[in-house]
Amino acid sequence: MPWPKGRLRGPQTSKHRAKIGAAKKEFHRENPAAAKGWCNTPKAKANMRAARLKFYREQPNAAKEWQSTPEAKANQSSAMKKFYRDHPGFQYEIQNRPEVKARASFRTMGDKNPNWQSGLTKNPYPVEFNAEFRERVRERYDYTCAACKRRQEQLKRKLDVHHIDYNKDNLDPDNFVPLCVSCHGATKGKKNRTYWTTVFQNIVSMNKCEELR
Ligand SMILES: [Zn+2]
Repeated sequence: MPWPKGRLRGPQTSKHRAKIGAAKKEFHRENPAAAKGWCNTPKAKANMRAARLKFYREQPNAAKEWQSTPEAKANQSSAMKKFYRDHPGFQYEIQNRPEVKARASFRTMGDKNPNWQSGLTKNPYPVEFNAEFRERVRERYDYTCAACKRRQEQLKRKLDVHHIDYNKDNLDPDNFVPLCVSCHGATKGKKNRTYWTTVFQNIVSMNKCEELR
């Protein structure tokens, strides 16, 4: 007979398992610190992490459901507050990244800007279709023609800025795309305006989705 490694006591019966469970509970009731000590070991942390991952793999909607509970929202909000308390200057550092700055400045243009007063001239900072505005449109699309995707530096000429709905009074930043001279030329005829409007509106919304990432 081979050596019965670890099985000297024989298999556990359900009664036996219940007894062990009760004894464990009793032990942890009397020694509340013991569990805490164990939970903090790397092995316990890894176990818990694996269990969590397994749980969320099996119930993909559980995370979403939990995240929308008031308790989860409160947890998240206090965690964020703690993070920003522990990392002073972090928010400031993010806000100063060039790509974030560019996005923020674009978002506050036009009717989204608190300075915007329906384009009245008394406003010190009216939104105008001027050189600065056009440059921001080019920058927003990374100096790339929205139609043929050639870049401004290849073309050796500044990109034109096109009014998507052909209405020169619509100064919504989303009404503009940069185009190279030849693509801009193609959009100018009267016949295909609806087509081009749809094409560029789609490009703008796709770009917006990317900006929000
Ligand atoms: Zn082009």
